[in-house]
Amino acid sequence: MSTFQELGLNNDLLQAITDLGFIKPSEVQEKAIPILLDSEGDLVALAQTGTGKTAAFGFPMLEKIDANSRTTQGLILSPTRELCLQIANEMKQYGKYCKGLNVVAIYGGSSITEQSREVKRGAQIIVATPGRMKDMISRRLVDITKIQYSVLDEADEMLNMGFKEDITDILSHTPEDKSTWLFSATMPREVAAIAKNFMHNPQEITVGNKNESTTNVSHEYYLVNARDRYQALKRLADANPDIFSVVFCRTKRDTQKVAENLIEDGYNAGALHGDLSQNQRDLVMNAFRKKQIQMLVATDVAARGIDVDDVTHVINYQLPDEIETYTHRSGRTGRAGKTGVSMVIVSKSEVRKIKSIERIIKRQFEKKEIPDGMEICEVQLMSLANKVHNTEINHEIDKYLANINELFEDTNKEELIKKFFSVEFTRFYNYYKKAKNLNVSYDDSRDSGRHSGGRSDSTRYFINVGGKDGFDWMKLKDFLKEQLQLGRDDVFKVEVKDSFSFFNTENELKEKVLAFFTDFKHEGRFVNVEVSENRGGGRRNDRKRGRRRDDRKGGGRRDDRKYNSGNRSERRRSESASKPRRSNSESSNAFKPRRSRR
Ligand code: ADP
Ligand code: MG
Repeated sequence: MSTFQELGLNNDLLQAITDLGFIKPSEVQEKAIPILLDSEGDLVALAQTGTGKTAAFGFPMLEKIDANSRTTQGLILSPTRELCLQIANEMKQYGKYCKGLNVVAIYGGSSITEQSREVKRGAQIIVATPGRMKDMISRRLVDITKIQYSVLDEADEMLNMGFKEDITDILSHTPEDKSTWLFSATMPREVAAIAKNFMHNPQEITVGNKNESTTNVSHEYYLVNARDRYQALKRLADANPDIFSVVFCRTKRDTQKVAENLIEDGYNAGALHGDLSQNQRDLVMNAFRKKQIQMLVATDVAARGIDVDDVTHVINYQLPDEIETYTHRSGRTGRAGKTGVSMVIVSKSEVRKIKSIERIIKRQFEKKEIPDGMEICEVQLMSLANKVHNTEINHEIDKYLANINELFEDTNKEELIKKFFSVEFTRFYNYYKKAKNLNVSYDDSRDSGRHSGGRSDSTRYFINVGGKDGFDWMKLKDFLKEQLQLGRDDVFKVEVKDSFSFFNTENELKEKVLAFFTDFKHEGRFVNVEVSENRGGGRRNDRKRGRRRDDRKGGGRRDDRKYNSGNRSERRRSESASKPRRSNSESSNAFKPRRSRR
């Protein structure tokens, strides 16, 4: 292990490093800094978030540029405004003893005039987001024709966000003989293509495993009215039939209440908080470990250190008071090499906090929409279909077959399938058919861009591959784009479930998509794509029409006994919505073979 001094950094930088309290270089710094100091070549560096990449390219860049000149010599491109500001600040700190140094951040959503004024004062280093950078170039507010060093930071993320063309465009304004340093957590094909097309024999360094995603946890948030929080929670659970989750609430009271409501509504839920006795807590935790409880509703204190490995989802029913706590919460999933999702239900007044959390966790949230009723019906139906399909036959049934066959003598297979699935589907359908849209809009121009994907003239598809086939949304999107030879934004709203997925394209592409998948095999298996009943933009239209109907009480998991006992807080809240009736024949719960023990 070398020291920063041994890596060959100058005294100005070493002094700043001491001030910052960095004692020894991180792995990526140890590997990258000597290469970048000693050669003028290109570099591809793969390293996870939080490994110290900024300093790995920042120190060498600061060492190499001429702070006495006012020419722009270094350009750092990064995917988001937050990262851009963060990098600019780090660079300023690293270079605080470099006399005359001027680092300027260029990003959208802030005055372009002010930014160009700062650039004009003489910026040796510009840190920019691709969109704003391109804008400034086309308005001739920056001159990057004398750049010697360019950095593509979080390259995979920039490509994910659809910045490929902007980056290409920006780089075309820079000199051929500059050095390009690419930093990325993962190396998907598109990043490799950038390296191939824009770099000359880059040296490659890897820290940790290649292609491991930034971390195992993805972060999502859902914007709803505060009064719809509980309904939103139920929908998230219903949209994920195999959920095994920790649901975080802020207070013991809320924790208890949410757990009670869930139990009354027939979910396998349990509460964990400090007002329970040690014995009660142990019981709940044991039930959770055995997966008899699928939704553990907990306070932060009580859930501290929960070491259950298979948690699929962390749901932030409310955000914590201290946003730093979010890291502890989301760390309850994505353990032991598995992937996990951390979901946050937020109301408008809290949405700002998402940005602050992003800064802390150094990851971006994806804004997602609470699924609408029909989407949930479809998910539940397909989940059941998959379960049926994968069920091992229990031959104890054989002795009753004669009677059953007699009963279905006149029913053909198609009819039988329809009837069989209607048993469950109708229950969900009746509950959800008039469910209102829970999503609220938030007019933040920064969020309404390419990410939100709320187009109304699009087609939504169902595809019978999913997580089990090794896809996550990014991989599936790449796969579809490559197979169908589509452009960067042609496939959107990709949602991957365990054994199936959904995605959208513009309507014009419908014929092409369906034709392509009529007879298509992937890894020896037929891949089937169908138009899904849920149109991608439908929800938005609902909102415009101002449809106002409350979710009806109950849900797929309702247990009649509990249902009849009612739920006081809910009843107060719900309008005059008529209650769904379930006949006794429906009370078997095909989705929920296990019951909570409470
Ligand atoms: P990355 O870009 O790889 O996600 P950053 O460059 O943002 O990581 O660094 C993560 C954190 O680690 C920052 O707060 C940074 O100041 C700190 N850091 C970087 N290098 C070192 C080091 N050698 N010693 C201690 N802390 C460091
Ligand atoms: Mg970084």
